[in-house]
Amino acid sequence: MKSLIVDDDFFSRRILQAILSSYGECHVAVDGKEAIFAFEQALAEEKPYDVICLDIMMPEMNGQEVLKVIRQTEEKKSIFGDDSVKIIMTTALDDSENIRTAFREQCESYLIKPIQKSKLIKILTDFELI
Ligand SMILES: [Mg+2]
Repeated sequence: MKSLIVDDDFFSRRILQAILSSYGECHVAVDGKEAIFAFEQALAEEKPYDVICLDIMMPEMNGQEVLKVIRQTEEKKSIFGDDSVKIIMTTALDDSENIRTAFREQCESYLIKPIQKSKLIKILTDFELI
């Protein structure tokens, strides 16, 4: 499983990395711009990510915007269904507006911080990624 962590917070990145790196290649992006760069780079190399853990509250470009760009990019490249990357929003924001927006923009899952390892593992198992 190839994963990408997108978070502006060092400790969140560290926690997620500790979990995900035991299941395969795990990359880290510290902001939205870097996330999109990493996502596009992986597609160009024909080694796309299986899963992206995406924070929402980040400076400049927030996670909702990143999600939108990723789905637009996939659509442009005719990447659909099982070929598209699984996106898990990993955020402290638990309001219904943010949750609704994220699912409307086609995230697959929504995990509220603080990240619980067992919940993340359950999501990855349900997606048959691990
Ligand atoms: Mg943040």
